[in-house]
Amino acid sequence: MEKAFVKAKTILEKLHTNGYEAYFVGGAVRDMLLKRPIGDIDIATSALPTEIMRLFPRTIDVGVVHGTVIVLHENEQYEVTTFRTEDKYKDFRRPSQVEFVKSLHEDLKRRDFTMNAIALTIDGEMIDPFQGRQAIANKYIQTVGIAKERFNEDALRMMRAIRFQSQLGFTLSEETKLAILANSSLLKNISVERITIEFEKLLRGQSCQTAIPTIIDTALYRFLPGLEDMQIYLSSFSQYMWYRLKERAEYWTLVCYLLHINKVDSFLRNWKLPTKIIEQTTSNLLCLETLKQTGWTKRTLYDYGMDCIQQVERIIDVIGRDKEYPSPIDEYKRLLIKKRTDIEITGNDLIAWFNQKPGKWISDCFERIENAILENKLDNNKEKIKEWLLSCNQK
Ligand code: ATP
Ligand code: MG
Repeated sequence: MEKAFVKAKTILEKLHTNGYEAYFVGGAVRDMLLKRPIGDIDIATSALPTEIMRLFPRTIDVGVVHGTVIVLHENEQYEVTTFRTEDKYKDFRRPSQVEFVKSLHEDLKRRDFTMNAIALTIDGEMIDPFQGRQAIANKYIQTVGIAKERFNEDALRMMRAIRFQSQLGFTLSEETKLAILANSSLLKNISVERITIEFEKLLRGQSCQTAIPTIIDTALYRFLPGLEDMQIYLSSFSQYMWYRLKERAEYWTLVCYLLHINKVDSFLRNWKLPTKIIEQTTSNLLCLETLKQTGWTKRTLYDYGMDCIQQVERIIDVIGRDKEYPSPIDEYKRLLIKKRTDIEITGNDLIAWFNQKPGKWISDCFERIENAILENKLDNNKEKIKEWLLSCNQK
């Protein structure tokens, strides 16, 4: 058994000793079979949340009503979830009421795809009532039960199907694909935050280039924020190796860039992104625009800073560059000043030297000083700056 599971065995053992059933389930079992790096380990058990919390000294209550408790053990977190069935679906979203059941089979049955509905016992035995292993071997994504019904219960599963296609390089079964096409509009009922999580995972997947055409073929894109009329631009996404990007803002920069978005702020707000990501994306896009006109000048490097330079360079690596140029990161490191406060004078010095009231002239004056220092035409030295300003009346 994988090392990650060996460490987690203690949790199963404790549950067993106290008379409960417990299994490894979900993505970790799937990823083990695929020999992919294992993410979080999920455990399904017959113990109720209150019983789980009583048994383990360190737990976080993340949704007791939904039957999930996080158990902290040897610096790891495990999501321990009570066997459940979800029978009353409202508005195509997850049910408000979760019914706890005493059967593993029922629990596996409510899971989304057959590849995610395999349980692993403490002895390494697989319980696989829906032929999930076969689906994994054949690399296909198939819902547990009738696809149309499962998407009607929870429409987010349609997005999940395509993000798994992107992450795993699998194909959607014909039934699953047709059911998405027939039910794509149900995505309207899902909160944007949940859609955004899945969309970002999709963009980060190794097979994003094949998942994008599925988003289009199944018409699901028509229910993604701001993408309803974007079929043509969206199809260009599959030309690029998205997985080479790193930060969230880089992904959103490339999204806005390829979709030719004008109102970036409102587009990104509709995806409910945090302000920090929106600001970084806006700055990356402005930087890209400036680069088209001038390339990396000392002024551009200074204005945008290291973070933006690194992000934009990775984006340019993905979209391709017109010509080679020296590393802007090295150039940035060589800049004589990195920010306004690095200059050896203050606004008060300017006010005193020119005997003028504060105003916009101060910032204009600083800009000229910055340019002169950056271009090596002026030393960053208080006396020298004063001399330079007064000698040519540079206010
Ligand atoms: P990863 O963590 O690598 O993104 P995962 O398969 O573990 O993939 P999670 O979102 O962590 O996905 O969910 C854990 C498990 O819970 C899934 O494998 C699946 O069995 C079940 N699951 C998650 N979301 C749903 C859903 N919307 N409908 C049905 N089952 C779900
Ligand atoms: Mg998981």
